[in-house]
Amino acid sequence: MTIKAGVIGVGYLGQHHARIYSGLEGVKLVAVADASAERADEIAARYGARAVEDFREMLDEVDAVSIVTPTSTHYEVAIECLKAGKHLLIEKPITATVAEADSLIEEADKRGAVIQVGHLERYNPALVSLLGLIEEPVFIESERIAPFVHRALDVDVTIDLMIHDIDIVMSILGVAGVKDVRVAGAKVLTERFDLAKAWVEFEGGVTALITGSRISRIKQRILKIYQKYSFLMLDYQKMRIRRFYRAGDAIEGETIKVEGKEPLREELADFVDCLRTGRRPLVTAADGRNALQVALEITNKIK
Ligand code: NAD
Repeated sequence: MTIKAGVIGVGYLGQHHARIYSGLEGVKLVAVADASAERADEIAARYGARAVEDFREMLDEVDAVSIVTPTSTHYEVAIECLKAGKHLLIEKPITATVAEADSLIEEADKRGAVIQVGHLERYNPALVSLLGLIEEPVFIESERIAPFVHRALDVDVTIDLMIHDIDIVMSILGVAGVKDVRVAGAKVLTERFDLAKAWVEFEGGVTALITGSRISRIKQRILKIYQKYSFLMLDYQKMRIRRFYRAGDAIEGETIKVEGKEPLREELADFVDCLRTGRRPLVTAADGRNALQVALEITNKIK
Protein backbone atom coordinates (compact mmCIF):
# COMPACT_ATOMS: atom_id res chain seq x y z
CA MET A 1 0.00 0.00 0.00
CA THR A 2 1.41 3.38 -1.01
CA ILE A 3 1.23 6.02 1.71
CA LYS A 4 0.22 9.41 0.36
CA ALA A 5 2.19 12.05 2.25
CA GLY A 6 2.16 15.84 2.47
CA VAL A 7 4.45 18.36 4.14
CA ILE A 8 3.08 21.49 5.78
CA GLY A 9 5.74 24.19 6.10
CA VAL A 10 8.68 23.76 3.73
CA GLY A 11 11.21 26.20 5.16
CA TYR A 12 14.65 25.28 6.52
CA LEU A 13 13.66 21.79 7.78
CA GLY A 14 10.42 21.05 5.90
CA GLN A 15 12.21 20.98 2.52
CA HIS A 16 14.14 17.93 3.80
CA HIS A 17 10.92 16.16 4.81
CA ALA A 18 9.73 16.74 1.22
CA ARG A 19 13.04 15.52 -0.24
CA ILE A 20 13.02 12.33 1.82
CA TYR A 21 9.34 11.45 1.28
CA SER A 22 9.83 11.95 -2.46
CA GLY A 23 12.50 9.22 -2.47
CA LEU A 24 11.09 6.84 0.15
CA GLU A 25 9.92 3.45 -1.05
CA GLY A 26 6.17 2.93 -0.73
CA VAL A 27 5.49 6.65 -0.26
CA LYS A 28 4.14 9.22 -2.68
CA LEU A 29 4.79 12.87 -1.84
CA VAL A 30 1.46 14.28 -3.02
CA ALA A 31 1.58 17.93 -1.93
CA VAL A 32 3.49 20.55 0.00
CA ALA A 33 1.97 23.59 1.68
CA ASP A 34 3.59 26.82 2.74
CA ALA A 35 2.23 30.19 3.82
CA SER A 36 4.62 31.55 1.21
CA ALA A 37 3.17 30.48 -2.17
CA GLU A 38 6.54 31.10 -3.80
CA ARG A 39 8.30 28.75 -1.39
CA ALA A 40 5.61 26.08 -1.82
CA ASP A 41 5.98 26.33 -5.63
CA GLU A 42 9.77 26.06 -5.44
CA ILE A 43 9.83 22.95 -3.24
CA ALA A 44 6.87 21.30 -5.02
CA ALA A 45 8.60 21.74 -8.38
CA ARG A 46 11.85 20.33 -7.01
CA TYR A 47 10.23 17.14 -5.68
CA GLY A 48 7.37 16.59 -8.11
CA ALA A 49 4.42 17.42 -5.85
CA ARG A 50 1.45 19.80 -5.93
CA ALA A 51 1.95 23.19 -4.23
CA VAL A 52 -0.74 24.73 -2.02
CA GLU A 53 -0.70 27.87 0.07
CA ASP A 54 -3.40 26.74 2.49
CA PHE A 55 -2.70 23.28 3.97
CA ARG A 56 -6.45 22.50 4.12
CA GLU A 57 -6.42 22.15 0.33
CA MET A 58 -4.27 19.03 0.52
CA LEU A 59 -6.13 17.17 3.25
CA ASP A 60 -8.47 15.24 0.92
CA GLU A 61 -5.48 13.84 -0.98
CA VAL A 62 -3.13 12.59 1.75
CA ASP A 63 -3.03 9.86 4.44
CA ALA A 64 -0.37 11.52 6.57
CA VAL A 65 1.41 14.86 6.93
CA SER A 66 4.58 16.24 8.44
CA ILE A 67 3.95 19.52 10.26
CA VAL A 68 7.11 21.60 9.96
CA THR A 69 5.73 25.09 10.55
CA PRO A 70 6.93 27.41 13.37
CA THR A 71 6.22 25.96 16.80
CA SER A 72 3.62 28.60 17.68
CA THR A 73 1.43 27.26 14.81
CA HIS A 74 1.79 23.48 15.49
CA TYR A 75 -1.43 23.20 17.48
CA GLU A 76 -3.78 25.05 15.12
CA VAL A 77 -2.44 23.12 12.11
CA ALA A 78 -2.34 19.72 13.88
CA ILE A 79 -5.84 19.85 15.32
CA GLU A 80 -7.36 20.52 11.88
CA CYS A 81 -5.37 17.69 10.34
CA LEU A 82 -6.48 15.29 13.09
CA LYS A 83 -10.11 16.31 12.61
CA ALA A 84 -9.67 15.48 8.92
CA GLY A 85 -8.50 11.98 9.95
CA LYS A 86 -4.78 12.34 9.13
CA HIS A 87 -1.77 10.74 10.82
CA LEU A 88 0.83 13.26 11.94
CA LEU A 89 4.54 13.66 12.28
CA ILE A 90 4.86 16.91 14.23
CA GLU A 91 8.25 18.55 14.46
CA LYS A 92 9.62 19.13 17.93
CA PRO A 93 8.54 20.71 20.23
CA ILE A 94 5.13 19.06 19.83
CA THR A 95 3.31 22.31 20.68
CA ALA A 96 3.94 25.58 22.50
CA THR A 97 2.04 24.53 25.65
CA VAL A 98 1.32 21.32 27.56
CA ALA A 99 -2.44 21.98 27.37
CA GLU A 100 -2.21 22.06 23.57
CA ALA A 101 -0.25 18.79 23.56
CA ASP A 102 -2.86 17.16 25.82
CA SER A 103 -5.63 18.30 23.51
CA LEU A 104 -3.88 16.76 20.47
CA ILE A 105 -3.29 13.49 22.34
CA GLU A 106 -6.99 13.32 23.29
CA GLU A 107 -8.12 14.01 19.73
CA ALA A 108 -5.68 11.46 18.24
CA ASP A 109 -6.77 8.77 20.73
CA LYS A 110 -10.41 9.42 19.89
CA ARG A 111 -9.72 8.96 16.18
CA GLY A 112 -7.08 6.23 16.34
CA ALA A 113 -4.60 8.53 14.61
CA VAL A 114 -0.82 8.24 14.97
CA ILE A 115 1.17 11.20 16.26
CA GLN A 116 4.93 10.90 16.11
CA VAL A 117 7.08 13.79 17.34
CA GLY A 118 10.22 14.86 15.45
CA HIS A 119 12.81 14.39 18.15
CA LEU A 120 15.25 13.67 15.37
CA GLU A 121 18.29 12.99 17.51
CA ARG A 122 16.69 9.76 18.79
CA TYR A 123 17.42 8.40 15.31
CA ASN A 124 21.08 9.41 15.37
CA PRO A 125 22.83 6.05 14.74
CA ALA A 126 25.42 6.86 17.43
CA LEU A 127 22.68 7.24 20.04
CA VAL A 128 21.02 4.02 18.83
CA SER A 129 24.37 2.18 19.32
CA LEU A 130 25.00 3.88 22.66
CA LEU A 131 21.74 2.52 24.09
CA GLY A 132 23.18 -1.01 23.97
CA LEU A 133 26.11 0.06 26.19
CA ILE A 134 24.07 1.73 28.92
CA GLU A 135 23.64 -0.26 32.13
CA GLU A 136 22.75 1.79 35.20
CA PRO A 137 23.59 5.47 34.79
CA VAL A 138 24.51 7.29 37.99
CA PHE A 139 25.04 10.74 36.46
CA ILE A 140 24.45 12.27 33.01
CA GLU A 141 25.80 15.41 31.38
CA SER A 142 24.76 16.86 28.04
CA GLU A 143 25.81 19.91 26.12
CA ARG A 144 24.17 21.26 22.97
CA ILE A 145 25.70 24.58 21.94
CA ALA A 146 25.56 26.38 18.61
CA PRO A 147 26.50 29.71 17.02
CA PHE A 148 23.75 32.31 16.72
CA VAL A 149 21.50 32.05 13.65
CA HIS A 150 18.29 33.92 12.90
CA ARG A 151 15.99 30.92 13.34
CA ALA A 152 13.62 29.66 16.05
CA LEU A 153 13.80 33.00 17.82
CA ASP A 154 10.09 32.65 18.68
CA VAL A 155 11.10 30.24 21.47
CA ASP A 156 13.68 30.05 24.28
CA VAL A 157 16.77 27.87 23.88
CA THR A 158 15.23 25.47 26.41
CA ILE A 159 12.40 24.72 23.96
CA ASP A 160 14.53 24.88 20.83
CA LEU A 161 17.71 22.96 21.73
CA MET A 162 17.62 21.68 25.31
CA ILE A 163 14.37 19.78 24.72
CA HIS A 164 16.29 17.27 22.54
CA ASP A 165 18.47 16.32 25.49
CA ILE A 166 15.62 16.34 27.99
CA ASP A 167 13.75 13.87 25.77
CA ILE A 168 16.84 11.68 25.29
CA VAL A 169 17.70 11.54 28.99
CA MET A 170 14.07 10.75 29.88
CA SER A 171 13.98 7.96 27.31
CA ILE A 172 17.29 6.50 28.59
CA LEU A 173 16.06 6.58 32.18
CA GLY A 174 12.54 5.44 31.24
CA VAL A 175 10.89 8.24 33.23
CA ALA A 176 8.03 10.63 32.51
CA GLY A 177 8.85 13.47 34.90
CA VAL A 178 11.25 15.16 37.30
CA LYS A 179 11.64 15.41 41.07
CA ASP A 180 13.61 18.65 41.27
CA VAL A 181 15.07 21.26 38.96
CA ARG A 182 17.66 23.99 39.53
CA VAL A 183 18.45 26.39 36.74
CA ALA A 184 20.44 29.33 35.44
CA GLY A 185 20.08 31.16 32.16
CA ALA A 186 20.24 34.49 30.38
CA LYS A 187 18.82 36.61 27.56
CA VAL A 188 21.85 37.91 25.71
CA LEU A 189 21.19 38.54 22.02
CA THR A 190 17.39 38.24 21.96
CA GLU A 191 14.39 38.85 24.21
CA ARG A 192 14.27 35.08 24.94
CA PHE A 193 16.68 32.88 26.90
CA ASP A 194 19.68 32.26 24.64
CA LEU A 195 21.57 30.06 27.07
CA ALA A 196 20.52 27.87 29.93
CA LYS A 197 21.89 25.31 32.33
CA ALA A 198 19.67 22.94 34.26
CA TRP A 199 20.47 20.56 37.08
CA VAL A 200 17.63 18.07 36.87
CA GLU A 201 16.87 15.26 39.29
CA PHE A 202 14.67 12.83 37.40
CA GLU A 203 12.11 10.44 38.83
CA GLY A 204 14.13 7.43 39.96
CA GLY A 205 16.85 9.65 41.42
CA VAL A 206 19.41 10.08 38.61
CA THR A 207 20.64 13.64 38.13
CA ALA A 208 21.58 15.23 34.80
CA LEU A 209 23.33 18.49 34.09
CA ILE A 210 21.96 19.84 30.81
CA THR A 211 23.42 22.80 28.93
CA GLY A 212 21.94 24.57 25.91
CA SER A 213 23.20 27.65 24.14
CA ARG A 214 22.49 29.30 20.79
CA ILE A 215 25.14 31.98 21.18
CA SER A 216 28.24 29.86 21.34
CA ARG A 217 31.26 30.32 19.06
CA ILE A 218 31.31 26.62 18.21
CA LYS A 219 28.75 23.93 17.46
CA GLN A 220 28.97 20.95 19.81
CA ARG A 221 26.52 18.24 20.81
CA ILE A 222 27.82 15.87 23.47
CA LEU A 223 26.24 13.34 25.84
CA LYS A 224 28.18 11.81 28.75
CA ILE A 225 26.85 8.88 30.73
CA TYR A 226 28.59 7.89 33.94
CA GLN A 227 27.89 4.43 35.28
CA LYS A 228 29.64 1.99 37.62
CA TYR A 229 33.23 1.46 36.36
CA SER A 230 32.60 3.01 32.96
CA PHE A 231 32.01 6.31 31.24
CA LEU A 232 30.39 6.70 27.80
CA MET A 233 30.80 9.79 25.65
CA LEU A 234 28.72 10.39 22.54
CA ASP A 235 29.40 13.05 19.91
CA TYR A 236 26.16 13.47 17.93
CA GLN A 237 27.76 15.43 15.10
CA LYS A 238 30.69 13.09 14.55
CA MET A 239 28.37 10.10 15.20
CA ARG A 240 31.10 8.70 17.43
CA ILE A 241 31.05 6.89 20.78
CA ARG A 242 33.99 6.61 23.15
CA ARG A 243 33.93 4.27 26.10
CA PHE A 244 36.30 4.48 29.05
CA TYR A 245 36.40 1.82 31.72
CA ARG A 246 38.41 0.73 34.71
CA ALA A 247 40.94 -2.02 34.06
CA GLY A 248 42.73 -2.79 37.32
CA ASP A 249 44.40 0.43 38.42
CA ALA A 250 44.22 1.99 34.98
CA ILE A 251 41.55 3.57 32.81
CA GLU A 252 41.30 2.19 29.29
CA GLY A 253 39.37 3.64 26.38
CA GLU A 254 38.01 2.54 23.05
CA THR A 255 36.23 4.20 20.15
CA ILE A 256 33.14 2.43 18.94
CA LYS A 257 32.46 2.62 15.24
CA VAL A 258 29.00 3.62 14.11
CA GLU A 259 27.62 3.24 10.60
CA GLY A 260 26.61 6.70 9.34
CA LYS A 261 22.92 7.15 8.47
CA GLU A 262 20.77 10.24 7.91
CA PRO A 263 18.65 10.57 11.08
CA LEU A 264 15.74 12.32 9.30
CA ARG A 265 15.48 9.53 6.72
CA GLU A 266 15.42 6.97 9.57
CA GLU A 267 12.73 9.01 11.36
CA LEU A 268 10.43 9.33 8.34
CA ALA A 269 10.92 5.67 7.36
CA ASP A 270 9.97 4.71 10.91
CA PHE A 271 6.85 6.93 10.79
CA VAL A 272 5.72 5.30 7.56
CA ASP A 273 6.40 1.85 9.03
CA CYS A 274 4.22 2.70 12.06
CA LEU A 275 1.38 3.63 9.69
CA ARG A 276 1.77 0.32 7.83
CA THR A 277 2.13 -1.97 10.85
CA GLY A 278 0.05 -0.12 13.45
CA ARG A 279 2.92 -0.19 15.98
CA ARG A 280 3.75 2.65 18.37
CA PRO A 281 6.19 5.32 17.19
CA LEU A 282 9.62 5.51 18.83
CA VAL A 283 8.80 9.06 19.95
CA THR A 284 5.15 9.24 20.92
CA ALA A 285 3.03 12.33 21.48
CA ALA A 286 3.24 11.57 25.21
CA ASP A 287 7.07 11.60 25.01
CA GLY A 288 6.93 14.96 23.22
CA ARG A 289 4.50 16.30 25.79
CA ASN A 290 6.57 15.12 28.77
CA ALA A 291 9.79 16.62 27.37
CA LEU A 292 7.93 19.88 26.73
CA GLN A 293 6.63 19.94 30.29
CA VAL A 294 10.15 19.65 31.71
CA ALA A 295 11.54 22.22 29.24
CA LEU A 296 8.80 24.67 30.24
CA GLU A 297 9.42 24.02 33.93
CA ILE A 298 13.11 24.88 33.39
CA THR A 299 12.14 28.01 31.43
CA ASN A 300 9.69 29.16 34.09
CA LYS A 301 12.22 28.60 36.86
CA ILE A 302 14.82 30.69 35.03
CA LYS A 303 12.24 33.47 34.76
P1 NAD B 1 11.29 27.98 9.01
O1 NAD B 1 10.83 29.32 9.46
O2 NAD B 1 12.54 27.89 8.20
O3 NAD B 1 10.13 27.27 8.16
C1 NAD B 1 8.78 27.29 8.53
C2 NAD B 1 7.95 27.38 7.26
O4 NAD B 1 6.58 27.25 7.63
C3 NAD B 1 8.10 28.73 6.51
O5 NAD B 1 8.42 28.46 5.16
C4 NAD B 1 6.73 29.38 6.68
O6 NAD B 1 6.36 30.18 5.55
C5 NAD B 1 5.82 28.18 6.82
N1 NAD B 1 4.55 28.43 7.53
C6 NAD B 1 4.31 29.20 8.60
N2 NAD B 1 3.01 29.08 9.00
C7 NAD B 1 2.44 28.21 8.14
C8 NAD B 1 1.13 27.67 8.01
N3 NAD B 1 0.14 27.98 8.87
N4 NAD B 1 0.87 26.82 6.98
C9 NAD B 1 1.85 26.48 6.10
N5 NAD B 1 3.11 26.96 6.18
C10 NAD B 1 3.40 27.80 7.18
O7 NAD B 1 11.38 27.08 10.35
P2 NAD B 1 12.21 25.73 10.57
O8 NAD B 1 13.55 26.08 11.13
O9 NAD B 1 12.11 24.87 9.38
O10 NAD B 1 11.39 25.10 11.80
C11 NAD B 1 10.11 24.55 11.63
C12 NAD B 1 9.80 23.59 12.79
O11 NAD B 1 10.78 22.56 12.80
C13 NAD B 1 9.87 24.24 14.18
O12 NAD B 1 8.88 23.69 14.99
C14 NAD B 1 11.24 23.83 14.70
O13 NAD B 1 11.31 23.74 16.11
C15 NAD B 1 11.39 22.47 14.07
N6 NAD B 1 12.81 22.10 13.88
C16 NAD B 1 13.22 20.90 14.37
C17 NAD B 1 14.54 20.51 14.23
C18 NAD B 1 14.98 19.16 14.73
O14 NAD B 1 16.15 18.97 14.98
N7 NAD B 1 14.08 18.22 14.88
C19 NAD B 1 15.46 21.35 13.58
C20 NAD B 1 15.01 22.58 13.06
C21 NAD B 1 13.66 22.93 13.21
